[in-house]
Amino acid sequence: MPEHDGRTPLTLGKMPVLSRLARQGIVGAARTIPAGMAAGSDVGIMAILGADPRKYHRGRAPIEAAGLGLDLPGDRTIFRCNLVTVKDGIMADFKGGDPDPERAAAAITALQRNLGGEVAFHAGLGYRNLMSAPAAWADSMSVAPHEIVGRQAVPPSGKAGTWLAQLMEESRSVLGGDNQIWLWGQGQVMRLPRLPCRDGRLIGAVAVARGLGVLRGLAIMSVPGATGTCATSYEAKRDTAISAFADGADLVVVHVAATDEAGHDGDVDAKIAALEHWDSRLLAGLVEYLDETGPWRLLWVPDHGTATRRRAHTATPVPYLHYDSAVPGPGGVLAEEAVASLTPEPGHVLMSQLLDRNTDGWTGP
Ligand SMILES: [Zn+2]
Repeated sequence: MPEHDGRTPLTLGKMPVLSRLARQGIVGAARTIPAGMAAGSDVGIMAILGADPRKYHRGRAPIEAAGLGLDLPGDRTIFRCNLVTVKDGIMADFKGGDPDPERAAAAITALQRNLGGEVAFHAGLGYRNLMSAPAAWADSMSVAPHEIVGRQAVPPSGKAGTWLAQLMEESRSVLGGDNQIWLWGQGQVMRLPRLPCRDGRLIGAVAVARGLGVLRGLAIMSVPGATGTCATSYEAKRDTAISAFADGADLVVVHVAATDEAGHDGDVDAKIAALEHWDSRLLAGLVEYLDETGPWRLLWVPDHGTATRRRAHTATPVPYLHYDSAVPGPGGVLAEEAVASLTPEPGHVLMSQLLDRNTDGWTGP
């Protein structure tokens, strides 16, 4: 950022714990978003969890379905089903007035009662819901509703596009007013190989992180006060991680969305604060606990960049840190500039390095 002498939030934030671990560990660059794939958490977190997105990724909706605990047959296609507002053919609101969970769930129940049959509606959280359909419905293309706000609500195209458009039209009479559903982001039901760990857990509020955790065989831990926003309780995540280890877990994945949220808000101060909170409110206490209990390892890595100036995701390689309390590394500095000249590693190999075994193949049910 020019207004900060060309520095990034990662170097502006004071992160004494991570800096110390970096000095004693290995710092490198990783390509969590493979070339040609969209820079999103569905791709980036899949890579961080050790599965090559080029091999396994089939869209965002099936990941969210796993996160909701839906167990659907492999031949079903899952769609994101937003509750939206379309006025005079214009996408007025991609969140359909941002209904509270109860109102949204009632809308999904009404849709299932009136339009369910060949397709089925599944309640998610608020305006974000899912619909499952026969495999043939996958042959369609629709625009993401948040990308056409204030613009013409282009109906879906492709072979199954007319079925989608008809269903979206019929939903208007069920939901009333200018409210309707918007179907997009589809993919076939997804299976991923289990991570080769004995007792893995995942702590995170965001649906896509929880879904990928389920798909990888991790137990999802609910954390009171974890919101997926800048107001999240870092202490609650830290304490849940510590209790997971105390309970016998050999792998705990902690996802924090606050830095990404601050990036989308274009809020540099909030992003720096989120990084500092990572360090002081989450990592400091966790490292203290781990140092007392025995040898341990850490992988710290962003799933993708979120440029504060453009307020959008980037696919540029990200810096990562590997730390092993028993094996000192060459040491490095955790900063974009420090790793810019390195050849980035594919993101999915980092988990293999952390666990010391291949994480990208089938190892049994
Ligand atoms: Zn984001």
